Amino acid sequence: MDAERAQERLEQERDRLAELRARFESEHLTDESEDESLAELSHQPQHQADTGTETFNRERDLSILEQLEAELADVEHALRRLDEGTYGVCEACGQPIGEDRLEAMPEARFCVRDQALAEKEAKTPAGE
Ligand SMILES: [Zn+2]
Repeated sequence: MDAERAQERLEQERDRLAELRARFESEHLTDESEDESLAELSHQPQHQADTGTETFNRERDLSILEQLEAELADVEHALRRLDEGTYGVCEACGQPIGEDRLEAMPEARFCVRDQALAEKEAKTPAGE
């Protein structure tokens, strides 16, 4: 994939993620008033379950937002690497990441092998 095409795809992805995040955040801001009404109702026992669900939803929402921001950071990182001329090279071993992989995932930072290693490491508890 040539740099021009990579840049185009990364910019599209960045715009898509930024829009998702903006929409997500605007939905989140309206939650503030909901929280107040929940607080008012919380002295009523039958609403305790709802409050728990709300907390669960909030945690789930936050992890979605974190995921979005992490993806956005990866895309911006890839765009910077395009500028620097290091795009398409694995950050761990310095080998080319590969056309197929970049085609499927233009923001990839590692080759398939190092990505698998990194994911394995993330799942393995420290000290094992
Ligand atoms: Zn590698």
